[in-house]
Amino acid sequence: MDPRSLGAKCDECPLNNRKPVSSAFGAFPKAIVLGEGPNNMEEIFNEPLHPQGESGKIITKLFEGVGIMRSRLVILNAFSCRANFNEKEDVKIAATECCKPRLINELRYVIQRRPLPILALGKYASVALTNNKEIMNHMGPVTKGKIDNLEFEYLSTFHPNFIAKQPSYSPVMLQHFYRYIDYLNNKLPPWDWKDELYLPDKNMLDVLKYIKAHPNEQIGTDSETDGLLDPITNRHKKEFGKLKLLNVGFSTTDISVSVPWNIVENDPEFAEIKALTIDIVANHPNQVYQNADYDLPVWYKILGIKPAMPKHDTLIASRILNPEWKAELGFRCAFEFHVERWKTIFKMLGDVAGKNMVKHL
Ligand code: SF4
Repeated sequence: MDPRSLGAKCDECPLNNRKPVSSAFGAFPKAIVLGEGPNNMEEIFNEPLHPQGESGKIITKLFEGVGIMRSRLVILNAFSCRANFNEKEDVKIAATECCKPRLINELRYVIQRRPLPILALGKYASVALTNNKEIMNHMGPVTKGKIDNLEFEYLSTFHPNFIAKQPSYSPVMLQHFYRYIDYLNNKLPPWDWKDELYLPDKNMLDVLKYIKAHPNEQIGTDSETDGLLDPITNRHKKEFGKLKLLNVGFSTTDISVSVPWNIVENDPEFAEIKALTIDIVANHPNQVYQNADYDLPVWYKILGIKPAMPKHDTLIASRILNPEWKAELGFRCAFEFHVERWKTIFKMLGDVAGKNMVKHL
């Protein structure tokens, strides 16, 4: 079908001299896949994510691995015409915008018949659905969207083309893919946020006492400072003594506390909270650190303690397993809280509203 008849603004589009690739509408579809734009092979065979192409192969294999044949997929692209290999980002964003009415009409056609969530692959799929090109900050959770009165659900993740070039990211995409499949099968329960305490009051004191009294219970431990230190290279060693501890956080399966160090540090009213915080960091035998190679020397210098060695460290683990991953908080938020091990440790078994987690951090 001519994309113009579906609302595409081809006359305004920078790719308007190309041959549009038709979307693929599998019979009785079981999933909706939204890619970015077609490549050469897709253009020649007029099929998005063609199964002979690198990206199409990955997608076909993933879905067939969970029993969904390619013929049961709806496969759409954010923009229907091929961009040149080195096309600039603003050209692709402009094409995504011009092609959006066609995409929305196709999605409307499918979703009104079968309300399936969309697996959005890559930056331009994300731009089409959310106007947000920073997918690393919001990929992973199933999220609700609305465009032109069309309500839909989507899960953003990497494009398989990126995975083919950067295979070290494939475990992240796999996590997201299986979460999408779990959601399709109604096996992904809503995220259950824990209660959080930020004020050094009696409630915080009670939680700290509880943690102290339950050494066998696994807790998450983390801290924030007002500056950065690279303890491996010691690049900022001279500034080490000036680093200020802002807070120390503990997380049980039910509740989180964030001890505001700037408040409790020198106020005798909070001496018990301060002492318990130090005691837990120093002695609790069941801690999962979020970034021990940073926090251990910080606590040693600022709290004057030699902290208990962690049971596990999420950041170090991922560095060892996959040193190419970016050590950047927004990126980590996007997937770390969704990994099975993390959820098992803290008994959090789903996160439909997981995007809130990014806001929290
Ligand atoms: S990408 Fe979409 S809007 Fe642009 S020319 Fe092709 S069909 Fe038309």
